[in-house]
Amino acid sequence: MKLEGGCYCGSLRYVAEGKPALKAQCHCRACTHISGGAPNMFMLMPPEGFAYTKGSPKQFRRADLENAVTREFCETCGTHILTRRPGLPQLVLKAGTLDDPAAGYGGPKIAIYTSEKQPFHLIAEGMPAFDRLPDR
Ligand SMILES: [Zn+2]
Ligand SMILES: [Zn+2]
Repeated sequence: MKLEGGCYCGSLRYVAEGKPALKAQCHCRACTHISGGAPNMFMLMPPEGFAYTKGSPKQFRRADLENAVTREFCETCGTHILTRRPGLPQLVLKAGTLDDPAAGYGGPKIAIYTSEKQPFHLIAEGMPAFDRLPDR
């Protein structure tokens, strides 16, 4: 599967090829912060299939955290595209940056970090939910 996407202003474009390892919604505090309030809808994609085809992202990593993730975003419009997490082989790609989120993402299969969930967050009926992460 070859997916294409980019940021809100069009300065950044990417292709993401390969099989998604996971499609999920994350309720953690950091995701809630960065999503704007909702859980973060993401998919794990193989890094070897991912490339920026236009522009290059700004990177941000918190210096005050151990094992901090690196976030890549558009320096013009601020759209957060993906996250690189130390120890995780895949990229955490944000579903909303796909050109066609309905086709390319479809929807989350599980909910994670519900221990940090806000009272107004919704989890679809019957969706497996995990306090933190599912066992590997
Ligand atoms: Zn942009
Ligand atoms: Zn999260």
